[in-house]
Amino acid sequence: MAMPVSYYLRTSKMPHIWCAGCGHGIVLGAVLRAIDSLGLDKDQVCVVSGIGCASRAPGYLDFNTLHTTHGRAIAFATGIKMVKPEMKVIVLTGDGDAAAIGGNHLIHAARRNIGIATVCFNNSIYGMTNGQYSPMTPTGSYASTAPYGNIEEPFDLCDLVYAAGASYVARGSAYHAILLWKLIAKAIATDGFSFVEAITQCPTYYGRRNKMRSAVEMLKWQKEHGVTVAGAAKMPAEDLAGKFRIGELGARTRPEYTRRYAAIIDAAQRGEGGERDA
Ligand code: SF4
Ligand code: MG
Repeated sequence: MAMPVSYYLRTSKMPHIWCAGCGHGIVLGAVLRAIDSLGLDKDQVCVVSGIGCASRAPGYLDFNTLHTTHGRAIAFATGIKMVKPEMKVIVLTGDGDAAAIGGNHLIHAARRNIGIATVCFNNSIYGMTNGQYSPMTPTGSYASTAPYGNIEEPFDLCDLVYAAGASYVARGSAYHAILLWKLIAKAIATDGFSFVEAITQCPTYYGRRNKMRSAVEMLKWQKEHGVTVAGAAKMPAEDLAGKFRIGELGARTRPEYTRRYAAIIDAAQRGEGGERDA
């Protein structure tokens, strides 16, 4: 790493709000190492978030930053990318923010393939509002709104985003922090919409309700349940039940949205390519 992590932090905003043992600092560290490894100028990076524990991250970062409304980070980021297509626009979001109220923005950004890198801090719960279940809470897990166990099935968010059209999707975890950093770097370097799901721990609201009272137990769970893509390909489906795949889950080349839009503007200004020419 060329620069210390503190170079990218607004240390005047410390201390942060995250609980002891929260995984969000590890995921944020991976984001900063990724940015650093790409040698990006701080002024060329814009980090956007919605609402929730993960969404507090941009407040601590010394880039162009925006802390927006619940579920709308990708909508704001889309506006920024349209106006400043040369900028690296990164969305930091939680599982509730991204997959529930923000789910529609997520799939449509993927469908358009707009050049935004999204990192979803997936702790399987709404942390900031005291532990309600989210669309990413595993079936059978307990939450403040599921005291008898969650009866819903979670999304496979990576599969969903890839099916919607993203150029790149990947999954890592707070335990697999170095892998996570490399995946985020690839996502930021991707020309098109990219998405990294970072499995992370909320000992305060998920762990203590689900027989994992410490961050260490939750990190051990990540270690024991994360299976590499190559490893998963050799395993029978029944052995993969309850596990999660880590690594690159999808990569392809599709036209990036802001460049297609710029081409339309060029054609219009030349008086070419409109419906009258069709
Ligand atoms: Fe982290 Fe959970 Fe605490 Fe929020 S409530 S800061 S997600 S440990
Ligand atoms: Mg969450």
